Amino acid sequence: MTQANALEAVVRLLGEMPGIGGKTAQRLAYYILAREHDYAFQLAAALRELKESLQWCRTCYNISTDEQCAVCRRPDREHQVVCVVEDAANLANIERSGGFRGYYHVLQGVLSPVNGIGPDDLRIAELIQRISQNEVQEVILATNPTVEGEATAMYLADVLAGLPQADQLQVTRIGVGIPIGASLDYCDEVTMAKAFENRRRLT
Ligand SMILES: [Zn+2]
Repeated sequence: MTQANALEAVVRLLGEMPGIGGKTAQRLAYYILAREHDYAFQLAAALRELKESLQWCRTCYNISTDEQCAVCRRPDREHQVVCVVEDAANLANIERSGGFRGYYHVLQGVLSPVNGIGPDDLRIAELIQRISQNEVQEVILATNPTVEGEATAMYLADVLAGLPQADQLQVTRIGVGIPIGASLDYCDEVTMAKAFENRRRLT
């Protein structure tokens, strides 16, 4: 590989990452080149280690060092509740909150027709299989409250409603609304509308 080709290859590979356009990829490649020698080698080694030491959990598709992830290995969780999330980062965030006691299912993305991502590109078939084989009583759809996240949740709700065991399966959507510590003054219309839609009864 010639020197120019090596740079081009790095730009192309970085540019394949979500949210990284051609210009950013180029800037990052130049940055890596300009940093001290060690940085690039450490990055390369860390990437190699990442792929060699981590895998997808065979049950929930979370990031895992073993066939089953740390959450799935826990016997003390509520096995009848499965929380569906977009990615492992969202799962980790929910775990940190400590507010959820069930298990997870990681879709590894959201439906996105513009980016050519359809149901077959997500772990939806695996979710359905899991529900069919286990005594799942509730599926909590915890995709992000974005346009694509909402569309994915609606799609899943439809698919789950069509399952043979649909009448024993409760499908819920996480409550979305005004964040704690936020002011109504700075709340956008969609969040405000959702907050009212998801209001809960106090008395
Ligand atoms: Zn797992």
